[in-house]
Amino acid sequence: MLYHSTNSQSPPLTFSQALLQGQAPDKGLYMPEIIPRLSEHEIRRFGRMDYHKMAAVLMGRFIGDEIPRDVLDHLTREAYDFDIPLETVEKNRYVMRLDRGPTASFKDFAARMMARLMNHYLKREKKRLLILTATSGDTGSAISHAFLGLDRIRVVVLFPVSEVTKRQRKQMTTLGQNITVLGLDGKFDDCQTLVKQAFADPVLRNLNLSSANSINIGRLIPQMVYYFYAWSRLVKPGEKIIFSVPSGNFGDMMGGVLAMKTGLPVEKFIIAVNGNDAFPVYLKTGRYEKIDPSRNCLSSAMNVGHPSNLARLVALYNGVMDEKGIVHREADLVLMQKDIWSVSVDDQTTRETIKSCWEKYQVLLEPHGAVGWAGLQQYLSEHPVSEDQVCVSLETAHPAKFPEEIRQLLGVDPELPPGLAGIEEKTENYNMLPTNYAAFKDYLLSNFS
Ligand SMILES: *Cc1c(COP(=O)(O)O)cnc(C)c1O
Repeated sequence: MLYHSTNSQSPPLTFSQALLQGQAPDKGLYMPEIIPRLSEHEIRRFGRMDYHKMAAVLMGRFIGDEIPRDVLDHLTREAYDFDIPLETVEKNRYVMRLDRGPTASFKDFAARMMARLMNHYLKREKKRLLILTATSGDTGSAISHAFLGLDRIRVVVLFPVSEVTKRQRKQMTTLGQNITVLGLDGKFDDCQTLVKQAFADPVLRNLNLSSANSINIGRLIPQMVYYFYAWSRLVKPGEKIIFSVPSGNFGDMMGGVLAMKTGLPVEKFIIAVNGNDAFPVYLKTGRYEKIDPSRNCLSSAMNVGHPSNLARLVALYNGVMDEKGIVHREADLVLMQKDIWSVSVDDQTTRETIKSCWEKYQVLLEPHGAVGWAGLQQYLSEHPVSEDQVCVSLETAHPAKFPEEIRQLLGVDPELPPGLAGIEEKTENYNMLPTNYAAFKDYLLSNFS
């Protein structure tokens, strides 16, 4: 099983190499050279399998013989120890809640698995990694939780003390173990600059720095599994499913499209974006123009003007798009339109959707999930779809992560999910660092070399 770069200028790698490499040297993204195909029989068997077992079977097909099956079984069991509720909204219309992981975001699914796979390969190669990450809030906690307790990897998080909410800060600073948190009296950009300088510094080379980048192939493959899961729990054999995916960088939807190419019976993917509508325009017209600067919308984790995983989607449909968004070979747009429909949902509709879902069905959505649900409603209003057709909209974060918005719209306080419960009482531990590179470098050398 080999992985090649979407820019075609770097040599193909095995899964473990691509995982530890992250982005290809030619700035492209790694994609499987051949997509494994599951038989109908194999897919049907998922109906009787636990989630972690399904994850091991599916990911095993993409990793090949580079990992023993019992190891993969063990890693998926460890990574997926939380619920995945499929909540009924109306007959055959569901919300899949991907918000029950430790940081209450769907990113836990990918980050926890990628972290464990990296740790496994580092053990094999007797190597260690030091992950540096700058955060304006959520990335730091997702990365920290994903790598917490792993023996081959240490994590250093830099955050701007005045730009992070108390709840966000506590999600990082109460962990301890292999997670070190550094506060800066500066802005997010200052943190980012220090991290970038460290990556480029030859003196730090033997610290084995890495970034756990969000475009890593190791974060994409785990995101196929919950699509199979929803289908296996809700759909009769031989029938197809419709998914609506609230999207920003398109990692989530790429997991779904890969699942479909692997054999999952999907009728349609609805790609729901916020005001950053570069993709729906492209899908309709074939002309791609990134939004620069990106537009600020309520669903803030989807404020992406140029989705980095779009290059992967274009590659799946026989096109070539480089990292800047320039199309070098046109994708098969007709085929793409057959599989995918896309819509932009504005902030007002997002708010109205949160309100109406709560008032009509007592279903609590947050802004990202509301974009997904609104996208599904829009699709259903424009297309003849049978009442028997199963449709699933993804909820990508827990409403308790957006208490102000929910309180203002609905007058209720969302209950804290298990991952966030009790956090107020935990003890924090972090150091303050002056905002200059010499101090940061000094800290790294004296604590990690
Ligand atoms: C990251 C994120 C998204 C967007 O996912 P992509 O894979 O970037 O499309 C949607 N919702 C939430 C809550 C997120 O954190």
